[in-house]
Amino acid sequence: MANEDKVLVKADHVKVYFKLRNKRSGIVRAVDDVSFDIMKGETFGVVGESGCGKSTLGRALIRLLDVTDGHVYLEGRDIAPLKGADLKAMRKEAQIIFQDPSACLNPRRTVKKILMEPFEIHGLKGQIDVDRRIEELLHLVGLDTYHLSRYPHELSGGQKQRIGIARALALEPRLIICDEAVSALDVSVQAQVLNLLQELKQKLGLTYFFISHNLNVVYQVSDRVGVMYLGRMVEIASYDQLYEKRYHPYTQALLSAIPQVDEEAQTERIHLEGEVPSPSNPPSGCHFHTRCPRACERCSREVPALREIGEGHFVACHLYDQQ
Ligand code: SF4
Repeated sequence: MANEDKVLVKADHVKVYFKLRNKRSGIVRAVDDVSFDIMKGETFGVVGESGCGKSTLGRALIRLLDVTDGHVYLEGRDIAPLKGADLKAMRKEAQIIFQDPSACLNPRRTVKKILMEPFEIHGLKGQIDVDRRIEELLHLVGLDTYHLSRYPHELSGGQKQRIGIARALALEPRLIICDEAVSALDVSVQAQVLNLLQELKQKLGLTYFFISHNLNVVYQVSDRVGVMYLGRMVEIASYDQLYEKRYHPYTQALLSAIPQVDEEAQTERIHLEGEVPSPSNPPSGCHFHTRCPRACERCSREVPALREIGEGHFVACHLYDQQ
């Protein structure tokens, strides 16, 4: 059990379901009973194939999406009932950086006006020296005041993402959801933006929920990693624990695809057969059983619980039920 004083976010049996428009009574179980904690000051990385529910989960953690069932607590406070001023205060605490900086910056607004938006929305213009704060933000993300008069189309992909980061930092949040924040960038720019995120985390005492389909990227930045498959968390462990040993057959397959610097640590590549099933019609029992090389008859009948099999190392797989 985590020390509650150190927990910033608690996800407790979170479910996010969507109704399908054209199929009677059909639902997509985007997030299906997920529980975990994010500790203050850590980077909790979450990885999984496209469509596994990681972005939906990230949005539910800051109430950009409502949960269908379960609870999300931010510093012990259930965020679902928040309204009015309380909801606005919560929004200051928790921000998001999106994947595609081009899509989320208004092309008709200059950088200055884009960075002004959070202060306008929260009624802070006139209360604080916003111009000075905007200049501080630009310097924090490695840009200069001459960028203030630029429009998004005049910036490179990396510069646009720096503006997205500056905007997310404007209201001095404690939690930032990084939703595929570097996936749209060239590899060399990716490294620069990852370094910037690391520096900002240290300097400002931030906590990140870092979402990526790229385990290599998640591995580089995370203190702990959660592996998601078809709406469920299947393994949670620290970076070191996962490097040492991964238990879940899905995590083993994901990690086998990453080239290791240490040749002895390199395991044989595990190729998964078949496509990821649809979250509107997931397999019974363990969702992974249709692709798992170690599946047995029980796997298609029973949902494996997420159990702690070593200190802080959680796995949802029947292979470890006796441990
Ligand atoms: Fe594979 Fe069964 Fe474990 Fe699921 S519960 S990962 S199908 S062995």
